[in-house]
Amino acid sequence: SLTLGIVGLPNVGKSTLFNALTRNEALAANYPFATIEPNVGVVPLPDPRLDTLAELFSSAKVVPAAVSFVDIAGIVKGASEGAGLGNKFLANIREANAICQVIRVFDDPDVVHVDGEIDPLADIETINTELILADLQTLDKALPRMEKEARTKKENRPALENAQLAKAVLDEGRTLFAAQAELDIDALRELNLLTIKPFLYVFNADEGVLTDEGKRAELAKLVAPADAVFLDAKVEAELLELDDEESVRELLESVGQHEPGLHALARAGFHTLGLQTYLTAGPKEARAWTVPKGATAPQAAGVIHTDFERGFIKAEVISFDDLVAEGSMAAARAAGKARIEGKEYVMADGDVVEFRFNV
Ligand code: GDP
Repeated sequence: SLTLGIVGLPNVGKSTLFNALTRNEALAANYPFATIEPNVGVVPLPDPRLDTLAELFSSAKVVPAAVSFVDIAGIVKGASEGAGLGNKFLANIREANAICQVIRVFDDPDVVHVDGEIDPLADIETINTELILADLQTLDKALPRMEKEARTKKENRPALENAQLAKAVLDEGRTLFAAQAELDIDALRELNLLTIKPFLYVFNADEGVLTDEGKRAELAKLVAPADAVFLDAKVEAELLELDDEESVRELLESVGQHEPGLHALARAGFHTLGLQTYLTAGPKEARAWTVPKGATAPQAAGVIHTDFERGFIKAEVISFDDLVAEGSMAAARAAGKARIEGKEYVMADGDVVEFRFNV
């Protein structure tokens, strides 16, 4: 499954956040067979639609979709030079599908900032620089080969020009993700570059920032179009110790939040990875299934079971909103709101689906 790699400078709160991510017992109960590796944290994607479905279908339980985060060993300046930790860091990032950078904006005289002061932009640039340098090395190796190929094969010229453009972007100190509008990103994929990956930013903040809308907007603007999540990693860890809703609400209110930051993080992670969900419901469970945006009905069926993709015949599809408006599957069918879709159908987020297939 797709993962986000958590990176950040030392002492920004990565471990604190990651510990909160790995302590999700509710989730472990739903995924008993998922072998969770020590450096992987899985967060459920909050989805109130599942509770509604569970009511409509008298489902015994709800199973949300989940997002996986991988803890990537600390970046150090000079990682791109490939010394020691640097090599492992880059290899781990290469495996992740998106990059989640934790940035410290909390103020605490007891916690030393590696570069001396709180400066979100400088933190972002430090990480970007290492990744950009690593990508430049990759391109410097690939370009001579691509040039040679383009000399004999005319059809290879666009790929070469695109790679040269990518190099120019990196030379300017920009990431390929930030410059995606100027590039053919898909054509660059085979080069396995790092800064092509989507970025997500987590601002590890204290109450002062969390309650300051202007400050939050300013930080969000700094990283746009990437998603920004604001949370207090220490509070997230404390929230998991609480077992009654009232205490959870009180603690959140005390830092000006109306939901746990992990919820916002799960949504942003899901969005950054380009994923969406479709829903199934019955007496056993109401469940969200993860598919990439643009997945067709057979591909969606394949997420439940590979046999379902192979034997796919058709899907009965109804949007969640229509289903709720009609009140039941039977009423929705009677109102003509349930559609029969074939192999070409592209799934929409929140489709409630029943697949028909040959086994
Ligand atoms: P890492 O090096 O990025 O993994 O950072 P850690 O998670 O180990 O955190 C470094 C220190 O900062 C620890 O002493 C944490 O308790 C503290 N810390 C982490 N998050 C917060 C936060 O949101 N607020 C405050 N005040 N301290 C934090």
